Amino acid sequence: MEKEKFYLTTTLPYVNAKPHIGFALEIVQADVIARYQTLVGKDVFFNTGTDEHGQKVYEKALEAGTDTQRYTDELSLDFKNLLGELGVLPEIHFIRTTNPHHKEAAQEMWRRCDANGDIYKAKQIIKYCKGCELEKTDSELIDGKCHLHPNLEIEIREEENYFFRFSKYGEKLLAFYAEHPDFVVPDYRFNEIKKFVEGGLQDFSVSRLKEKMSWGVPVPGDDDHVMYVWFDALTNYISTTGWPEKEDFGGYWPGIQFAGKDNLRQQSAIWAAMLLSAGLPLPKQIVIHGFITSGGAKMSKSLGNVIDPLTVKEKYGTEALRYFLARHVHPFEDTDVTMEKVHEAYTANLVNGLGNLVSRVMKMAEDNLEGPVSVEDTPIEKDFRTQLDAYRLDAAFDLIYFHIQKGDELIQETTPFKKVKSDNPTEVAEGKEVIEKLVKHIYRIAEHLVVFMPETAEKIKEAVRENKKPENLFVRID
Ligand SMILES: [Zn+2]
Repeated sequence: MEKEKFYLTTTLPYVNAKPHIGFALEIVQADVIARYQTLVGKDVFFNTGTDEHGQKVYEKALEAGTDTQRYTDELSLDFKNLLGELGVLPEIHFIRTTNPHHKEAAQEMWRRCDANGDIYKAKQIIKYCKGCELEKTDSELIDGKCHLHPNLEIEIREEENYFFRFSKYGEKLLAFYAEHPDFVVPDYRFNEIKKFVEGGLQDFSVSRLKEKMSWGVPVPGDDDHVMYVWFDALTNYISTTGWPEKEDFGGYWPGIQFAGKDNLRQQSAIWAAMLLSAGLPLPKQIVIHGFITSGGAKMSKSLGNVIDPLTVKEKYGTEALRYFLARHVHPFEDTDVTMEKVHEAYTANLVNGLGNLVSRVMKMAEDNLEGPVSVEDTPIEKDFRTQLDAYRLDAAFDLIYFHIQKGDELIQETTPFKKVKSDNPTEVAEGKEVIEKLVKHIYRIAEHLVVFMPETAEKIKEAVRENKKPENLFVRID
């Protein structure tokens, strides 16, 4: 039987800075869902990559005195290497927007929107935030500044550019939203975008003059312009499937998109309108996560509170980093993360909780059972699936911890370690029976844990199969 196809993608991080924990969060969340969908039998297409055009990248490369392509090559490689450090599925597709096939796909997207009458040339004075790479309307400015980038001056520009007829799509988007009540998760983000669209849409420019900024995909049929970075980058979600050569996207699109709350508008309104214009299917769902703050403040270099995912990984390991991001960071709301919180969670729940249960059970099994307990993989729990279907990674992980606690309680209540030392053969048999039950119990835990902590899950399964206490799963760290 052919497997059901499942597509999911992260946003593509913009390569004007090194990878930060916000990207690590998004990719780990998406990776958990990709592993989960694979586990339940789907044929998964998982996409990420790097967004490499636009003014900020161009200026950074200029500043660094490097060739722009070489600059993006290096930063793109940093992101790609990070995937391994985060334990992301090796089958992931990694798309770079400077890739020739992607550039051709972006041009085809342009042609289709143009053919539908949605791209026109006009002169306009624009207010532009370089931080967002977006034009801003007056209502979006606070004291004349972008609220996300209060340190940057809003640029006033007069340019003749190409525009996308976004204004034409307000009604159509609202109709689509009404027909797809789960289009954006969580629903308060969905309400936010509905309000934005209801407020009326303004056309926005989708090109830049090449003489001012050449680092972009050439506009088809006009050598003087390059595409605006969003227009080009958003197309990656379908170009990665082999579109436009594969008109059916290889059967993978439409799919699920993960994005941060700062990306809500681009994903659920701009990109959606581009697809409507090009006559292509809209995404199935857009999942919006919150931000990671640190010590109560937005992370910033000047505050010195930036948490580097690689520092966490080096100290506690990839699996612990994944554990923390999946269970202790809220899937939708902002979460405050400090190194102290990471340390506490690691010690209490990995060293003491999971690590301790596995080592106690397998020590008893190794010492008292004649051979390995026979185990087989069985379908995962319905409640666990319900939580992951709703992207509640934290709640799904809590279910695993409920079973870890049950295991601890069973040991305390039935004291199998005492029973096996008894002179009474019935008690010894009872003790062994409980130990077998516990071994099956931790195997069952591993079957669910695999979506979050694949290496740890495999170590537990191997220990069960070999009837051998594993090396310390989590080393105590001071
Ligand atoms: Zn801004």
